[in-house]
Amino acid sequence: MGMSAVVARGVSVSIGGARILDDVDLEARPGELLALVGPNGAGKSTLLGVISGDVALGSGTVEIAGRPLGSWTLKHLARERAVLLQQTAVSFPFTVQQVVEMGRAPWAGTALEADDDDAIADAVLRTDLARHLPRTVPSLSGGERARAALARILAQRTRILLLDEPTAALDIRHQEDVLRLARERADAGDAVIVVLHDLSLAAAFADRVCLLADGRVVADGPPATVFTEDLLSRVYDHPLEVLTHPSDGTLIVLPRRAGRASAASPSAPPSSPALEGTS
Ligand code: ADP
Ligand code: MG
Repeated sequence: MGMSAVVARGVSVSIGGARILDDVDLEARPGELLALVGPNGAGKSTLLGVISGDVALGSGTVEIAGRPLGSWTLKHLARERAVLLQQTAVSFPFTVQQVVEMGRAPWAGTALEADDDDAIADAVLRTDLARHLPRTVPSLSGGERARAALARILAQRTRILLLDEPTAALDIRHQEDVLRLARERADAGDAVIVVLHDLSLAAAFADRVCLLADGRVVADGPPATVFTEDLLSRVYDHPLEVLTHPSDGTLIVLPRRAGRASAASPSAPPSSPALEGTS
């Protein structure tokens, strides 16, 4: 067994007297796609920030590629892990081309600099940005901007990917693209941690889900064990139902809505309006 790519143990973070993370354990192995899910304010971004070194640890430990986070220089850390922040504010009018090129900065002066063109071309292709390369980032739509930010960290070609809500601004096709891409990276041996709100998307693509609520890990395991109606309804404080896709067996999580028959109970035949006067 290879060593874990990311190991967080007993992580606690307090900000301004408020406990944001409380004794959190999280681990991601090479080859694994881990979805980090939970309600707004659960602490997902803070946890990703701690793992990426952007948020100071209160207590606990974080290891990246087998070494304590604090022992890495920023330059070397940037060759190990790439981070897609939830908020990516690019205030200067860089072009998409320039933003993607920035992803190669950690490799400047190394032998892998020779891969720059290939890494950039591949990232652009996979994020469907080829026709936007000369445009400036502020001129892009929200979804295009999100894809440009993703392209930059794909070009970085690290073995660890930390993605905070990469699909939030994307249309359904580009959401699928991003998760398929994350899946491919995991299948190729990388460790991918992705924060998602769409639980059906998490169930379809992730090997494992870690469910956070109020700064604590509530459950951690395969989607089929974590995504139960009772647990999810309690954690999200809303009645939810978990269905099974008829053809591939993946789980689909939906809110229960008044007036809709539960999938578990036999449904009444749809009443059809009389078509008087037509033939
Ligand atoms: P999530 O990403 O799961 O929605 P966050 O990690 O962003 O949650 O935030 C968790 C909680 O910590 C929220 O209640 C948020 O308001 C609070 N929080 C996060 N960062 C700060 C900060 N710098 N100062 C004060 N509160 C913060
Ligand atoms: Mg967040």
